[in-house]
Amino acid sequence: QFITFEGGEGAGKSTQVKRLVARLQGQGREVVATREPGGSPGAESIRDLVLNGAADRWSPVTETLLMYASRRDHIERVIRPALERGAWVVCDRFADSTRAYQGAGGGTAPELISALETHILEGTRPDLTLVFDLPTEVGLERAHARASGEMRFESKGLAFHQRLRDGFLAIARAEPDRCALIDASPTMDDVEAAVWSAVSQRLSI
Ligand code: C5P
Repeated sequence: QFITFEGGEGAGKSTQVKRLVARLQGQGREVVATREPGGSPGAESIRDLVLNGAADRWSPVTETLLMYASRRDHIERVIRPALERGAWVVCDRFADSTRAYQGAGGGTAPELISALETHILEGTRPDLTLVFDLPTEVGLERAHARASGEMRFESKGLAFHQRLRDGFLAIARAEPDRCALIDASPTMDDVEAAVWSAVSQRLSI
């Protein structure tokens, strides 16, 4: 099974990825925990290209292509081999982040993103996507409090982050069979319970 976590800044995805992975491993499953942008050596190099440096270093379209170059490498070298041997893959961000960040946020044409999904993802699509939702201001406050990692996108302004949130919500609404919307505002334990309930019900475990 292929599970992805999506959402804006400060939603607490990475904590929940760790907790879900531990829980699935505790049931004796082989689980590959990974992330995007990155997840394979080549994809991590592209991550550095995209996230380090000036915010306007790449245009939204160039950024979309870089994200898809890194995603393709990640799929070929990590995700697909793991799924083929029957492992579970839990990925912190995947294709929906491109739709939201480079698409809804950055203005890349949805037709280009859809074409990339068709030709680059091919059949490698998540069975379940947990879309973490949080009021924009709360997420940015949390992200600033954390004050670590790449701050490049966090500095883009409230309007960008609002488009981002709307973009993720639109994806969850458009694909309810694949996506579960998770309210990321309560405590980490409450969010963990909501994640587990979605995973166990949707994937029948
Ligand atoms: O997962 P995390 O929130 O740590 O993401 C790392 C950084 O990459 C964030 O600042 C996020 O905004 C950015 N990002 C992006 N476009 C994507 C995926 C992530 O700008 N498609």
